[in-house]
Amino acid sequence: MTQDTHASPPAPALDLHRLVACEYCDALYERTALAPGERATCLRCGGLLYRESSRAYRRLLPLVVTALILFLVSNTYPIVEMDLKGVRTETTLWGAVQALHSDHMTLVALLVFGTTILFPVSEMLMMCYLLVPMARHRMPPGFDRIVRGIRQTRPWGMIEVFMIGVLVTVVKLSTMAQVIPGVALWSFGALVVVLAAMLSFDPRDLWHYLEPAGADQTPSREDAA
Ligand SMILES: [Zn+2]
Repeated sequence: MTQDTHASPPAPALDLHRLVACEYCDALYERTALAPGERATCLRCGGLLYRESSRAYRRLLPLVVTALILFLVSNTYPIVEMDLKGVRTETTLWGAVQALHSDHMTLVALLVFGTTILFPVSEMLMMCYLLVPMARHRMPPGFDRIVRGIRQTRPWGMIEVFMIGVLVTVVKLSTMAQVIPGVALWSFGALVVVLAAMLSFDPRDLWHYLEPAGADQTPSREDAA
């Protein structure tokens, strides 16, 4: 169950680290502690300011590690196997990229490589780079640049779009040839679910878990208006 809580408007004595601006109308608020499941919304436009994310933060590292393992499996095993009149062919994601390249569709190959391999794996590795030292209460070097990098990389990861494309192709081809789903097809399906859970965490929230232990967890409680 989620409840809406409006953040308090700025108080006279401002702590700059606790200020939060509305993404949609630039109204400025002071961050207040929220109960689990609560979210703060803008008084002026009703846009989402932030949500309580401590539970999401705790499961973030296990999710990222799971996503990396699934990604490895998805790229190692074939996605589909096709049997066309006794001729068997199978392909992996990397094999598909190579096939596109050798068919003189280099631009498409680059796009598939970027959106399904390069950007998703970069985001997962950047997340690991931040979360592993943070779990030991250490600040990883270049924290600010990596958080910005994750936000810039995120829109380019399109594994779910690729997954829909593969499913449509498999259904269409099944009328012409015998199509056997490979291990990677299932692991890709699981990866899409894990990624959806991982991407629901706003990387900007990582700043609040970087501060000295308990700084954001126990602020002076202000009643949300
Ligand atoms: Zn607003």
